[in-house]
Amino acid sequence: MTAQSPRPPEPHRVVIVGAGFGGLEATYRLAGAPVSITLIDRRNHHLFQPLLYQVATAALATSEIAWPIRYLLRGRSEVTTLFATVSGVDAQTKRVMLEDGGTIAYDTLVLATGARHAYFGHDEWEPFAPGLKTLEDATTLRRRILVAFERAERETDPQRRAALLTFVIIGAGPTGVELAGTIAELARDTLPPDFRNIDTHDARVVLIEAGPRVLAGFPEDLSAYAQRSLEDLGVEVVLGMAVTECSAEGVVYGGNRLEAKTLIWAAGVRASRAAEWLGAPSDRAGRLEVLPDLTVPGHPDIFAIGDTVVVAGPDGKPVPGIAPAAKQQGRYVAESIKARLRGEVPGPFRYKHSGSLAQIGKRKAVIDFGRIKLRGALAWWIWGIAHIYFLIGLRNRLSVALSWLWIYARDQRVARLITQGSSKVGR
Ligand SMILES: Cc1cc2nc3c(=O)[nH]c(=O)nc-3n(C[C@H](O)[C@H](O)[C@H](O)COP(=O)(O)OP(=O)(O)OC[C@H]3O[C@@H](n4cnc5c(N)ncnc54)[C@H](O)[C@@H]3O)c2cc1C
Repeated sequence: MTAQSPRPPEPHRVVIVGAGFGGLEATYRLAGAPVSITLIDRRNHHLFQPLLYQVATAALATSEIAWPIRYLLRGRSEVTTLFATVSGVDAQTKRVMLEDGGTIAYDTLVLATGARHAYFGHDEWEPFAPGLKTLEDATTLRRRILVAFERAERETDPQRRAALLTFVIIGAGPTGVELAGTIAELARDTLPPDFRNIDTHDARVVLIEAGPRVLAGFPEDLSAYAQRSLEDLGVEVVLGMAVTECSAEGVVYGGNRLEAKTLIWAAGVRASRAAEWLGAPSDRAGRLEVLPDLTVPGHPDIFAIGDTVVVAGPDGKPVPGIAPAAKQQGRYVAESIKARLRGEVPGPFRYKHSGSLAQIGKRKAVIDFGRIKLRGALAWWIWGIAHIYFLIGLRNRLSVALSWLWIYARDQRVARLITQGSSKVGR
């Protein structure tokens, strides 16, 4: 009889749902811990959402801002990547349920499922005013913007041509401002030599905001600078008026009707269904109200992080829904899991705000680092360098830097491809 060697203990099973900024950071930071990790995402890629608008406006190609998750984790043998959609959580049996009927068991669960668009109870507006959240959204918007110019080139009726050349962006947060500035530059600097029957300078870019100023999260002087810069680019900024209708014909705001064939929604977000899965408390935007250690009330083995949660920052205000916050939470959760496995009790999550950045156009950006506030060309360079730094991989950094230098020097946006259909396809 041979003596049986004792079986090594099963590693602690961590399941992470969502390979966005929060989930991926948690996975990275768990390297070396005695755990097995299952990372589940309904997309096969990690997406750098801050530059989505550059895909939508033909400045960058899709592959420059997204990476296959499996590839990013190819060197981590303890990580299993699953391309699947989670439809619920059974906290009693400690299983994650998948849409296709499968289930995955966990010892510790991390929900990092982000947020999606919110139409404030008007979901019927979505087909007319799509938002920007996924690569598909970005290529759909790119298609609509470019098709509008193509159709205008062939349109002989002046009213219909004007509607085709009117681009309305709803919501003047960073995404709305960045889209408005870039579409204006596209029409003003990039496209004019390419068309024969239209003058693309005639394009109207209208940015509508229900609040009193653009970039409401920035200090007032930077908001004012952003508004002036947009107006210098020819953007019409409408403040203090809520949109009350979106349709195939255009928008209605503050009682005014504006005919426009391209509407873009940048006005609101709603958290993923993570709170619903657990019957956990949530705020009006559906964000799960986590405890200070980022666990779900009543479920110490379930963490939730990033855009799908609400938690107070050091100033008592909710931690903002931005990439650095999601990454800090991912890092904190990884450290908490490691500490617990060592038998320690981790302290609460403490958010550190490193600053807010928004680009308005070429050579124009605003940065709020707290005590240091910057605007103009210097801010634009810092914005560009920061974004290149946060991209993954040397190849993408070089490629994005080259694309931007090309735009900077030549006003050429090379990703002007109309995909997903032929010239016959409508909206
Ligand atoms: C257009 C745009 C511009 C932005 N600009 C900036 C910016 O300039 N600076 C900044 O700091 N932040 C910016 N943000 C915000 C930033 O991208 C988010 O705060 C950040 O992505 C949140 O990270 P997260 O991990 O919580 O969610 P996400 O990064 O959204 O990741 C969530 C992941 O979960 C997956 N998922 C969701 N539901 C399921 C499910 N049921 N099953 C399986 N997988 C699921 C998704 O596919 C996704 O991969 C921007 C966001 C957008 C949309």
